[in-house]
Amino acid sequence: MNKKEINLQYLKKIELIKKYNDHYYDKSNPLVTDQAYDKLKSEIEKLEIDYSFLKSENSPTKTVGHKPSKNFSKSLHKAPMLSLANAFTEEDLVNFEKKIKNFLTLKDKVKIFYSAEPKIDGISASLNYKNGKFYKGLSRGDGKEGEDITENLATIIDIPKVISSKDFPEEIDIRGEVFIQNNDFKNLREKFANPRNAASGSLRQKNSNDTKKIPLKFIAYTFGYERGLKATNQFDYLKKLSEWGFKTNPLNKLISGVKNLKANYNEIEKQRANLNFDIDGIVYKVNDFAMQKRLGNVANAPRWAIAHKFSSNKAVSQIIDIEIQVGRTGSLTPVAKIKPINIGGVVVSNATLHNEDEINRKDIRVGDTAVIERAGDVIPHILSIDTKKRLKNSKKFIFPENCPSCGSKTIKEFNKITKKVDAVRRCSSEGYYCDKISIEKLKHFVSKEAFNVDGLGKKIVENFWKLALIKFPQDIFKLDYSKIEKLDGWGKLSVQNLKYSIDQKKIISLEKLIYSLGIRHIGLENAKLLSKHFVSFSKLKNLSKQSDYEDLLNIDGIGETQVNSIKSFFSNEANLKVLNELEKVLVIKNTVQNTEDGLLKNKTFLVTGKLNGISRAEVKSLIEENSGKTISSVSKKLNYLIIGDKPTKKKIDSARQLKINIIDQAKFLKMLNKTS
Ligand code: NAD
Repeated sequence: MNKKEINLQYLKKIELIKKYNDHYYDKSNPLVTDQAYDKLKSEIEKLEIDYSFLKSENSPTKTVGHKPSKNFSKSLHKAPMLSLANAFTEEDLVNFEKKIKNFLTLKDKVKIFYSAEPKIDGISASLNYKNGKFYKGLSRGDGKEGEDITENLATIIDIPKVISSKDFPEEIDIRGEVFIQNNDFKNLREKFANPRNAASGSLRQKNSNDTKKIPLKFIAYTFGYERGLKATNQFDYLKKLSEWGFKTNPLNKLISGVKNLKANYNEIEKQRANLNFDIDGIVYKVNDFAMQKRLGNVANAPRWAIAHKFSSNKAVSQIIDIEIQVGRTGSLTPVAKIKPINIGGVVVSNATLHNEDEINRKDIRVGDTAVIERAGDVIPHILSIDTKKRLKNSKKFIFPENCPSCGSKTIKEFNKITKKVDAVRRCSSEGYYCDKISIEKLKHFVSKEAFNVDGLGKKIVENFWKLALIKFPQDIFKLDYSKIEKLDGWGKLSVQNLKYSIDQKKIISLEKLIYSLGIRHIGLENAKLLSKHFVSFSKLKNLSKQSDYEDLLNIDGIGETQVNSIKSFFSNEANLKVLNELEKVLVIKNTVQNTEDGLLKNKTFLVTGKLNGISRAEVKSLIEENSGKTISSVSKKLNYLIIGDKPTKKKIDSARQLKINIIDQAKFLKMLNKTS
């Protein structure tokens, strides 16, 4: 890569981080996880180290937070409000101390004392006092200028409005963290991903009456500008803060030596899940104010402090229970219910245990202290168990022999291909006899690739099931809308919309219907193969009268596993009843055999963005029915790029470069002589 390209790459990353900052700091609604954010930030840092010609005023190595929002009036901080440098390993701590000693030309053996303070994950605020009176409160903003949130801060009970202590300075900015306790966050979980976002969103409301409704807390830990402060070190200052009526963190400690800092960090990390406030690390501050003053600041952080962060993909918590979830195909999945813990910005309260073998191999028990990992988009899982912390009366977890939902025996199948017994245990009841399997089947039935019923999401299916409004798929088309209208959260308009979207789906292709039935091992591709083979619903239904399913093996792509599954589906009375009932309420279209000379013969297509009222799967089958082809990327082989709502810009740009026809949904349908 040449200089220009490197610079371009660098500036692109900075633009992206600016966008993330805007969503995180201003909108309290991050676009990415902290892990992804930190990765991008360290890529920028690395580029700056590797290529000294790279410079930008907007680099996260030079800036703090985000400029104040237009919703508030702005006010300058009398002393800047900075960020903190980060440490992740013991080596980082050793380097931190080394740099301090070098800077101050101290001998190696000199002991430096640090105030070690759990880093509460909220948002910082600066409270300005003059002659003992709180008169102005600011957010950090970009460090130089903050938002004037005095009225909102004044609603917080922990913030003293008047201080009459004799030694209270004439003028001082008391700084600390506004946060929300974990028990209060429970009620805000629907709205915010974690307590930090909840605190930031609640504190920075336009109307302070809205802030007042949220039980925000404040703990104090530092100061900005001051006149008349009589303290010579941080620990003395913390003591004074509590004498003046501020809350300080009871877990603050005075510590010297990297080994002791690390031991304290490990100890607090273990206690983390039991604390009533969210912490994301420990802040170490050189205790002596004279030393702090000499050390000073770099561009965006003091040299005398560092935040020793907890991992953004692992955390220690306790297993409260082990639940067994029953899936659509009867699979029993054990899930650990854990004490909620914030891992990289996401509050995790469940971790998958995969299967019975995994529990046995790791000997995972209820009550155990465990390391939970949540990396990228992977479902959180248990990495390891701390057996030293195991409770004395803990018992080995016995996997249930019977389905926790319907009580049927559970089985582990023998896989003829791998010649091994399956790791997954399954409920032996077939389909609708087991409540949990039925609910999962219904969720699948209305899902995107199946009937794709707008407004009938997983939660609503569960609720309708509980209220006995639906038990079988056919019930969806016979809903009692007058009852639904009376339910909490429903009104005339939402019921009308639901009815409209359900009615729209009453005409369905055979392929879609087969997929929607949720027959084990029959996914989208197999459903297509079967629909081509049977052509009509009546022929498919005739399978139930057949004793021999051998014939199905002749379908290219269908193997023994699928045939056995189809056989077991069609040998089940409840399934057959569902098929008969569905036939009464639906119009099931016969499969159109692909003609070699369809309207889209020799033409290739690719969709980008969301189309209106038609899923990707449906577009694909429409194209194929008409002898066209879909391809997965923009290349010279592509003839038409169909664009919907929020298309990928890159795809459009590449298509333009290659002079590919770019069409919208209406044009595409016109090619098929359709209008909608
Ligand atoms: P920071 O959170 O790492 O550290 C500085 C802050 O620590 C201070 O402003 C203060 O609010 C807080 N703090 C808590 N206890 C303290 C104590 N005892 N003493 C001093 N300060 C204390 O710094 P930052 O610049 O605000 O944010 C960086 C963090 O935010 C990163 O972890 C990053 O992952 C996250 N972030 C995430 C996104 C995203 O999109 N996910 C975007 C921006 C930032």
